[in-house]
Amino acid sequence: MAAPLTPNAQAYGMLSERTRRRMSDRLRQHGINDERVLSAMHEVPRHLFVDQALATRAYDDVSLPIGHGQTISQPLTVARMTELLIQGRQPGKILEVGTGCGYQTAVLLKTGAEVYSIERLGAILDQARRNLRAAKLVHARLVHGDGNVGLPEAAPFDGIIITAAARALPAPLVDQLADGGRMVLPLGEAEQHLWLLEKTAQGLQKTRLDPVKFVPLLNGRS
Ligand code: SAH
Repeated sequence: MAAPLTPNAQAYGMLSERTRRRMSDRLRQHGINDERVLSAMHEVPRHLFVDQALATRAYDDVSLPIGHGQTISQPLTVARMTELLIQGRQPGKILEVGTGCGYQTAVLLKTGAEVYSIERLGAILDQARRNLRAAKLVHARLVHGDGNVGLPEAAPFDGIIITAAARALPAPLVDQLADGGRMVLPLGEAEQHLWLLEKTAQGLQKTRLDPVKFVPLLNGRS
């Protein structure tokens, strides 16, 4: 049997249920309408993925620092990218580049995706592993490596999501996308936009979407 909650933990739990509900309502108002995405965003305890000192801001629509100069994206961006990736289809097998704190990974897992996630910073990946364990989401395959080269041994992927801004489209990732697969990524440097790519029989269809602000996609691992 679980240990009884202290009054504080109970109050916090209630607060977080209410604030989580408010967050999913806000996402709906901003045009997110895939119920799988909305319920995944509602269910994943975002406060477990940020520093404890920032937990009270976890459900605000802001990006937050996660250490090592990296950030967790604002909820609307996570929801939007997830929706673009899986809308109108089964999530299937997804490759995430840039695990960060593991929050986007958690949301993908909750939609029912089979998730592979690559992170170049070992210390951040350890943190993601701890966060995902705390959230009781342990079935993602987390890999310490350079996402620019992808994960050929697990390809092809039904979807690829890059959560750091690439200057140019990494060719190996395009190769590792299944026919009919989708890729969602931020492209650019000072000025960045979200792009949706779809691999069709006619070739790669590219659609430029919202302006965004991500940390850069770097090379190598450390
Ligand atoms: N999806 C994350 C966002 C993390 S920020 C979340 O929900 O928290 C982007 C992450 O991409 C950083 O952790 C950064 O270290 C990582 N990154 C940057 N370049 C990379 C590369 N080439 N391969 C893998 N990860 C990379």
